[in-house]
Formats: sequence, structure tokens, C-alpha cells
Amino acid sequence: MSASSVTGGCQCGAVRYRVDGPLLGPHICHCRMCQKAAGNYFMPLAGAARADFSLTRGEPAWFHSSAPVRRGFCARCGTPLFFETVGFHEIAVTLGSLDDPAAVAPLRQYGIEAKMPWFGRLDALPGAATEDQQVLDGVPLSAIAASNRQHPDHDTEVWPPEDRR
Ligand SMILES: [Zn+2]
Ligand SMILES: [Zn+2]
Repeated sequence: MSASSVTGGCQCGAVRYRVDGPLLGPHICHCRMCQKAAGNYFMPLAGAARADFSLTRGEPAWFHSSAPVRRGFCARCGTPLFFETVGFHEIAVTLGSLDDPAAVAPLRQYGIEAKMPWFGRLDALPGAATEDQQVLDGVPLSAIAASNRQHPDHDTEVWPPEDRR
């Protein structure tokens, strides 16, 4: 693994990937197709040269959102992972699926015609850290932490863990 490698994967850990090279053109896309594909207000993406990209665990499922474009996701947990224009020399990965998402800041916005009218105000909303919430929907957060099934933010030797088969 070179110094410029980045790794990532889905929430459950069934699909893992690695990019042995730079992430190209990091951006967020607000277009309506990306909103639906993400279940979110935008999709954060960056390209990787195909030669630098490898799946290190599992296989994604794909949805052709149009004839030239397909979107890859984990069929087990649903995490959006990839955006691919078929035949192009790059594949894009979702920046939130990186093991260190804070390391890659978006540099551009696309699809701004569909940007939420209040998007610029999100950062001013009142906030609370996860550890400052004692209860979520009536469940103690300690119960969530104690049974967290999210894959850790690094590659692992075995999946699924023995106690979760
Ligand atoms: Zn998964
Ligand atoms: Zn888009």
C-alpha cells in the first residue's frame, strides 16, 4: 500500500475498496438524481483512475440510473459507494464512505439548480455531539454503542465478525 492509498467501504463492511493514487476532482453534486441515490441533499464524490482502484472485499450491486451511468451500492446494508460512467477511465467513490472522510474536502459543487434553498443555513443550526445525547428515540445511547454493527474505519482480516454471522 503506497503512502497515497485511501480505503473505504460500506456501513456493514461487506464491500471494501482501495484507491492507490490521488482522488480527483472532489465535489458535491446537488442534482436531483444524486439526491435520490444518496437519500440525502447531495452526493459527495471524487474520481479515481481505474488503474488505481480495486475492490478489496465483496462486490457492489449496481443500479443504472441512466444508460451511460450506473451507481454502485452495498446490497446488504444499502450504503451508496460508487458512480461510474461506463467506459470512462475513472470511477467515482462516495466521500462519506472513505475511512477518513475529513481528509478529502470537496472543491466544487454541481447540480446547483436542485440545491436546497436553505442549504447555506445548515451550519448555523443548533447542534449536539453524539456523546451529549443520553437517549435516542427512547433507547439509551449506551445500548447502541454496545451493539454497534458498523464496520470500523479500517480494513479487517475477517468479515463478517464471528459473532455476527
Ligand atoms: Zn454493506
Ligand atoms: Zn448529480
